Amino acid sequence: MFSACLINDPFGDPGVYIEFKYRRSALLFDLGDIHRMNPRKLLKISHIFISHTHMDHFIGFDHLLRVCLGRDIHISLFGPPGFHQQVENKISAYTWNLVENYTNDFALHVTELHPDRKLVRHYHCRTAFRPEIEKEAEEFDGALVAGNYFSVKGEFLDHKIPCLAYRFEEKSRINIKKNALEEMGLPVGAWLIELKDRILNGDPDDTPIRIWRKDMALGVGERIIPLGELKEAVVKITPGQKIAYVTDVIYSEENSRKIVELADASDLLFIEATFLHEDAEKAAQKYHLTALQAGMLARRAKAKRMVLFHFSPKYKGAGNLLVDEAMRAFNGQILLI
Ligand SMILES: [Zn+2]
Ligand SMILES: [Zn+2]
Repeated sequence: MFSACLINDPFGDPGVYIEFKYRRSALLFDLGDIHRMNPRKLLKISHIFISHTHMDHFIGFDHLLRVCLGRDIHISLFGPPGFHQQVENKISAYTWNLVENYTNDFALHVTELHPDRKLVRHYHCRTAFRPEIEKEAEEFDGALVAGNYFSVKGEFLDHKIPCLAYRFEEKSRINIKKNALEEMGLPVGAWLIELKDRILNGDPDDTPIRIWRKDMALGVGERIIPLGELKEAVVKITPGQKIAYVTDVIYSEENSRKIVELADASDLLFIEATFLHEDAEKAAQKYHLTALQAGMLARRAKAKRMVLFHFSPKYKGAGNLLVDEAMRAFNGQILLI
């Protein structure tokens, strides 16, 4: 279970925060101005996916560094060609002579993506963020993270520079039937997280699951039930949600094809709608989409829902025009010829 939302209003810096409920974990797409985010939310972030390093997508790096410094946190960052150098440039703007004494070792694991390969460097606070370079490049086929409960893919698009769009995919959703738990006399508790992880892992049905509860009156109670029995009785499995994040792209045939493929049947498509279509020429000059183009792409991708952002400041106070135009295209009421 997770929630996904924009980190700023549609006129602010782009970015989407995905927060997993019941887990101390979150993801971020783009790292623009994040001052409005609660630091507690920032401290949950485990992965950050950067589309490109124009300022409005990367200026939040320093703030994040400051919030996380001195904490036992590891963050994986992904970004476009040249990303390592840019991270190192930011880090080298500060003096790091006292950090070896820190008890916790904040670390960044940074993957620089190229159309055909990915390169990884590690930066640890206690060694003054000196880069540890992984020599072997890995082939890049779109896959970035393939975890137990979600995966993320990246796709290169054209913004006059390489710009990455991303697709987040939740693994099957495992819902617990509360009534069934009650009927079996089983408590709600941390053991349910282990149960879900084991199901997602595909563990065998005879795996023993330890169910325990700490009760003020009764002390610690424990029961062991095989995984298969619990799967049958207390669990309902539904397909996971898919979210796509697309920003800063020109409307071209190649970009459109890639966006439609990446966002195919997404439950939620976050897509930029920077200009009104009457300003299509300006949009093309600046390598951005118009609201109409965004709506059409969402329609072609058969996205269930579309969220618009990255509105140009020239429409301040008239954001509804961008939304209306995109929605009409999304619903098939207007078409681009
Ligand atoms: Zn931008
Ligand atoms: Zn840009």
